[in-house]
Amino acid sequence: MHRRISGKLVIATHNPGKLAEMRELLAPYGIEAVSAGELGLDEPAETGDSFQANARIKAVAAARAARLPAFADDSGLAVDALDGAPGIYSARWAGENRDFMAAMTRVERLLQERGATTPGRRKAHFVSALCVAWPDDHVEEVEARVDGTLVWPPRGTAGFGYDPAFLPDGQTRTFGEMTSVEKHGLPPLGLGLSHRARAFVKLAEMCLERR
Ligand code: IMP
Repeated sequence: MHRRISGKLVIATHNPGKLAEMRELLAPYGIEAVSAGELGLDEPAETGDSFQANARIKAVAAARAARLPAFADDSGLAVDALDGAPGIYSARWAGENRDFMAAMTRVERLLQERGATTPGRRKAHFVSALCVAWPDDHVEEVEARVDGTLVWPPRGTAGFGYDPAFLPDGQTRTFGEMTSVEKHGLPPLGLGLSHRARAFVKLAEMCLERR
């Protein structure tokens, strides 16, 4: 049996963009979202070796500190020909300046060095791991991915991170060329295209009740 979320939920992020997105996703379920930043909670070190482990570290730390259920996510890009890199280091590859053109260029240089020039050798996927933790350390976890191909040069200016270089399977436009509604494709507008939307839909089925 999955545990249901009700009442107040801590969003274990200090990132205002993620907080806004999470509040939007949770609104139809009557959940009151309060951020770890607003509660003055410390950010734990992300020392896990997987997306799921890092999401769990953040959710458990926030639930224990706030004595409330807490929700955290971790995500990134995994490139097949690079043995899954940048993976959990996706944000770090952009450096302190958060320069994702530099990060995409680094991926491209490594692909060229490995002779990965055909679409078939340029497969990649985004992963989103979500975790809800309760103060008694119970956790509910989901992970989802979206598969695609890396294009060069990057296309489009929408979205963030590696979006302009990522062409989702079955689509003709990169995430950087889509509106956020198209990228996430959330019901009732779509079926969940992005890794984050897919993971959220799974979590909602397990732990949330629509009001
Ligand atoms: P974190 O989940 O905050 O640790 O960071 C994940 C990193 O992965 C982001 O900084 C982006 O570089 C990348 N990433 C995750 N999801 C997406 C996405 O939907 N589009 C583009 N880049 C993403």
